[in-house]
Amino acid sequence: MTMTISSAFDAGNIRVTNIDGDTANLEIVTDHMSDFYQWFHFRLAGAGGREVTLNITNCGGAAYPDGWPDYKACLSIDREDWTRIEKTTYKDGTLTITLVPETDCVWIAYFAPYSMERHHDLVSTLAALPGVEYRSLGKSLDGQDLDCLTIGEGDLTVWLYARQHPGESMAEWWMEGALEKLTDPADPHARSLRQKCRFHIVPNMNPDGSRRGHLRTNFAGVNLNREWDNPTADRSPEVLAVRNAMDESGVDWAMDVHGDEAIPAVFLAGFEGIPSLKDEQQARYLAFQSALAANTPDFQTALGYESSAPGKANLSMSTTQLAERFGAVSMTIEMPFKDNRDLPDPVAGWSPERSKLLAHACLATLDQML
Ligand code: ZN
Repeated sequence: MTMTISSAFDAGNIRVTNIDGDTANLEIVTDHMSDFYQWFHFRLAGAGGREVTLNITNCGGAAYPDGWPDYKACLSIDREDWTRIEKTTYKDGTLTITLVPETDCVWIAYFAPYSMERHHDLVSTLAALPGVEYRSLGKSLDGQDLDCLTIGEGDLTVWLYARQHPGESMAEWWMEGALEKLTDPADPHARSLRQKCRFHIVPNMNPDGSRRGHLRTNFAGVNLNREWDNPTADRSPEVLAVRNAMDESGVDWAMDVHGDEAIPAVFLAGFEGIPSLKDEQQARYLAFQSALAANTPDFQTALGYESSAPGKANLSMSTTQLAERFGAVSMTIEMPFKDNRDLPDPVAGWSPERSKLLAHACLATLDQML
């Protein structure tokens, strides 16, 4: 049987340049109207029981080449359970994946995908629960709704939003964990948080990029996390819709959920360089960071991004814009595509399950802080 490779489905991305026997040469396709690429997701069929070599030959020009060393590709037979492919190597710009597929139909991806179909399952399930309000904040350029769920009766306004960068699918796994915890009637932190807070939750800010299999941008090739100072209906209606809703509600706390290609750890990024930085605002951010590190060994503070210098924050990014605009305690949480270096799992690496448990720890920590 001849091996076939396809990506013509929700969140698929790969281009076949050549198949010769059981070796395939592949390329990742750039985001529409953009040069960014790194997300891949494809089906490999007709090669069950044979050793297959897949060369993704354009990885050297990807958005984050540092993401490839020590990276292991993700594999699933049933599209539910995802494990890492141990024989994944990177050399001279080519990522080589060698495997013996157990069945004639397996799925390979940069990280366990979170499809738009699963997104709709999540939103529909949540919207049907008592105490959850649904609204669409607006439409994307492809005409998809920007779904927002509101939970809780408290005075403190908390915004959680994810997947500005659509290839960072762990961000929506985090959201699934957060939503399950917040709506669990038996969970004591959730009961307490629902009393204290009103949560506005946008599980996916970039539905077009998600469905199109993009790494970093929307339909128009725009990086949404560089639009928060001046979003427009033409380029970034997703940000415009969410920011308008935030202007109506105000923002006290905010978390923007992401994945990082290169750094093998979970870390936070804050708002140190905003012009109006207040000591109390910064102290609450740092207290949350310390408390989260105490609550879960999957979080740490040694690895991360450099803080910006006083007054030098980039206000086109959501975390800094919300901290400046509302005086909010605002943060970006980054999870690895690779693994937690200090607590590695050779079978799953960083995974959907760990993303969901991290969300539980973040909410428990938030409850302790308030
Ligand atoms: Zn990101």
